[in-house]
Order: sequence, then C-alpha cells, then structure tokens
Amino acid sequence: MFDVIKKLCNPLLAVFLIGASLSFLISCAGAKESSAPGPESAKVSATEEIKLKFNGTNALNFVYEQLALGPRTSKDGKQTALRDRLSSKLKALGFTVEIQPLKGASGMGAGVDFYNVIAAMPCPQNAKVRMFGAHYDTIPIAPNDPDASKRMTPIAGANDGASGVAVLMELARVIAERKNSLKHSIKLIFFDGEDFYTGTDNMFYGSRHYAAGLGAEEKSKIEYFILADMVGDSDLNIYQEINSLRKFPQLTAKLFSAADALGLKGFHAKPGHQIFDDHIPFIEAGIPAAVIIDFDYPYWHTISDTGDRVSADSLAQCGKLFEYMIFEN
Ligand SMILES: [Zn+2]
Repeated sequence: MFDVIKKLCNPLLAVFLIGASLSFLISCAGAKESSAPGPESAKVSATEEIKLKFNGTNALNFVYEQLALGPRTSKDGKQTALRDRLSSKLKALGFTVEIQPLKGASGMGAGVDFYNVIAAMPCPQNAKVRMFGAHYDTIPIAPNDPDASKRMTPIAGANDGASGVAVLMELARVIAERKNSLKHSIKLIFFDGEDFYTGTDNMFYGSRHYAAGLGAEEKSKIEYFILADMVGDSDLNIYQEINSLRKFPQLTAKLFSAADALGLKGFHAKPGHQIFDDHIPFIEAGIPAAVIIDFDYPYWHTISDTGDRVSADSLAQCGKLFEYMIFEN
C-alpha cells in the first residue's frame, strides 16, 4: 500500500492514513493534547498581534451569507450567484476582478461551464505575486453521509467550500484596509469546479485550467500559491500536507513557523494527510504551493457540513496566518 489519500477517494479510506497507519493518527492526537502552549509559545509581541486586522466574526458572517444562497453546485449553474457576489464585493474593495470562463473538457464535467474569479491587488513597487486560493463551488452529493438515503442530497458546504472563501473575503477587506503597507502584489483566486463530483477526474476544473493557462513570464512572477480548504472546523487541527511538504518543503515550513510565531493552536507542525486539491496543478506547474486543510473533519461530504460546525476562531487562525504571510513576512 502507498500512503495516498485522495480528497475524494473511498470514504472508508479517507479517514485513515494508509501506510502511515492508524497508530500515527493516534500519536498525532496524543501530540495535540500534549502541545498546550507554554510561555515560549507567545512569540509574537502584543503590539505585533494588534497589527493584524483579520476579524473571524466577519468571516463567519460570510460563511452564513454563502449558506443563505443554498448549494453552490456547478453542474446546474447554482454557483453563479456567489460568483457574482464575490466579484462585486471585491470590486468595491478596490481589487481588479477577472471572471475567467472555461468549459470542462473531460470527465463528468465535460461541456459544463465553469468560472474562476480572479482578484488582483498590484503593488506598484513589487510585481512578484503572492497568491491565495479557495474553491467556491460545493459538491452536489453527500457521499459520506451515514444515512444512505441522504447521499444524493447537495451539501451546505459550510466548511467544504464556504470556509476558504470566507477567509479570503475577509482577507480581501484587510488587504484593502492595509493597501499602503503592501510589499508584494496579491492575487486571490476563487476556483470553480473543485467539488464537481467525486473522483479526481471529475474535480479541480478551475484550478487545472488556471494553472495550464499561465504563461512563462506570468509564472516567473509568482512567489507562491497557498490554498485554503476546510479551514473552519470549530475543532481545528491542521497538519502539514504531504504533497506540499514533499515538493516545496520550505513554503510549508514557512507557513507552520509563522503559525507557531502567532501561537495558532489549531496548527501542528507535523506531517498529516496527503491531499489532492486545487494546489496540485500549481505544484505540477513548478510553482511553490501548499494547502492549508483540516482533513480530520467528521462531516466532510455529509449533509451535516453546516454552519454550526464552523467557528469564527478557527477561521481567524487561517486568516491571521495569511495576513501575517502577506504583511509581516
Ligand atoms: Zn469537497
């Protein structure tokens, strides 16, 4: 066996680390319990912490705003209401927004219309781009629901979908507010078609298209790409993702040392799951990339992935990390 967990593979397998074994999971859980912050954990001074403007309650509110739209499924165009809302909010904040349309070329999404939302905030002094992404669509089924009769029901996607988008949208507000302190150009990308259906052939339509369309010059300007997916679980436990760690260890190390400096309790600087998600097309294109994901979420792809499972504090942990990466690093 090989230690691969695909994001949408067999649900029975998904909760385990193949090869790394259950004992590894148990040891992670044990390590989590024993990693209560000591006095040395408060490495960021009070003044530095105050500088961070990311507000978890704003992010949580935007989770609920997305849930009020109903499922954001791409197969029937139900993601477009959110696409338009993202676009108008980002424009109002001063971002340059591009809607990138694409047609699915393979798998179950062949012929389906997808749309990436790309928001740019250039820094006049530095053309190097730091990119952050999330998927804004939600899966049209609930394959992991314990109740078999619910498995064809579209999920709410509070954590799987809305949480990453909410972090990026609150981050957008912060970037606009702190615009004059930007030392790098920023792009926020909202991918469509990540969760079109199960099976990697039927996923990642937006990110695959985006990465494939990058020209050599554009690619050379990208410093890194960081993806947020499933970052809202109120019981937050984020480990280093294996694909990110193997291909671009320095970026993952940088993220987790920043998390440590900020005293973010949901982050554990240890290897965790191997995940196939929207960061993979970037890794394959040779762009330093990483995913921040909490894959130990019992409601993943069930109808119970609802707003009450997500917390402002967890969203703020990811948001503060991203704000720190943009402004303090
Ligand atoms: Zn999903």
